Amino acid sequence: MKLKLFLLLFFCSNLLVHAQIDNGVFRMNELRNPKKRQVVQIPDVNGFQTLKCDFHTHTVFSDGHVWPNVRVQEAWQEGLDVLAITDHIEYTPHSEDVKVGHNRAWELAQNAAAENNLVFIKGTEITRNTPPGHFNAIFIGDASDYIEDRAGEKDKEAVMKAVEQDAFIFWNHPGWQVNNIEGSYEWLGFIDELKKEGNLHGIEVINGFGMHLKALDWAVDHDLTVLGTSDIHNLVKHDYDLGEFVHRSMTLVFAEERTPESVREALEAGRTVAWASKYLAGKEAHVRNLFHACVEMGPAFHTRGDRNYYEIKNNSDLYFEMELKSGDSTGKVTLFPRSAQVITAPVNQQNITYEVVTTFVRSDEHLVVELPLK
Ligand code: ZN
Repeated sequence: MKLKLFLLLFFCSNLLVHAQIDNGVFRMNELRNPKKRQVVQIPDVNGFQTLKCDFHTHTVFSDGHVWPNVRVQEAWQEGLDVLAITDHIEYTPHSEDVKVGHNRAWELAQNAAAENNLVFIKGTEITRNTPPGHFNAIFIGDASDYIEDRAGEKDKEAVMKAVEQDAFIFWNHPGWQVNNIEGSYEWLGFIDELKKEGNLHGIEVINGFGMHLKALDWAVDHDLTVLGTSDIHNLVKHDYDLGEFVHRSMTLVFAEERTPESVREALEAGRTVAWASKYLAGKEAHVRNLFHACVEMGPAFHTRGDRNYYEIKNNSDLYFEMELKSGDSTGKVTLFPRSAQVITAPVNQQNITYEVVTTFVRSDEHLVVELPLK
């Protein structure tokens, strides 16, 4: 009896994975996506979970090309923890074909997000003419009465709709019109006023394939939270060459728990680093903590003449390129995702200093790390 049951189970499981002829239909089951979710490995940082978050995406309910549930499926497959769909309020070019509803993408994707274990945050993009340009508001309430008219005199009123709902508000891609609109990529009076009134909380330093370097300096100088987002309109897979190194641009959030409340708390506290595949951008302390959570220097494992041999290991899916700053050691170290390198140093040397050239802590500054040698 047990054998029969075993054979039956074996036969059924085979049916799921292998091609079978079923009443004259050749069912090529092995061609199906086995619903694999990528695991993006980034260690906890100082006791906080490192959450992979995209707070800026679009669907057909503004100028995106996909239905909301597709955004959820992609995020799940790519190993994200947190997603916000942030369709434009003032720009809905598909409105002749898709009925405008500023809450609709959220409503349609909510269940799919819950079923796929994604933290799903309600958001929108307040899309003013440039300058000042666009703002994302996340953790919003009802978006149905936001201002659809883009006239400049309503800029403040438009942002205040999100303020009234106690949203987390960030300035998007500040340099996006730098070559077309003079004066648009500056610390504008409008921005300064929002910040001083406590109504601007973050800034996009990475948007898709662009790092807005001045925005990083503003984040540091004006104490704004650093964000990295995809601002994806198309399929992620269509726009990104996804693979070992390439992920969609996103924000790494260091949160106590994997919940909307914890994400909000971490954003308000500024515990973030923006990540674009090989590159990281953020406030120095957070980039440093992240680096040390990922990279570990082992003890000397071999001595030859007056030099010790050490293994330096990257326990994450991040990528680090380092150049020697001081000390006598290997000049250039590339730490590929989940890999190690061997370096050498004089036996009596206590430490070495590297510049991590794939990180940015200011527009013109990389993270510098001192590694102890034991
Ligand atoms: Zn956008």
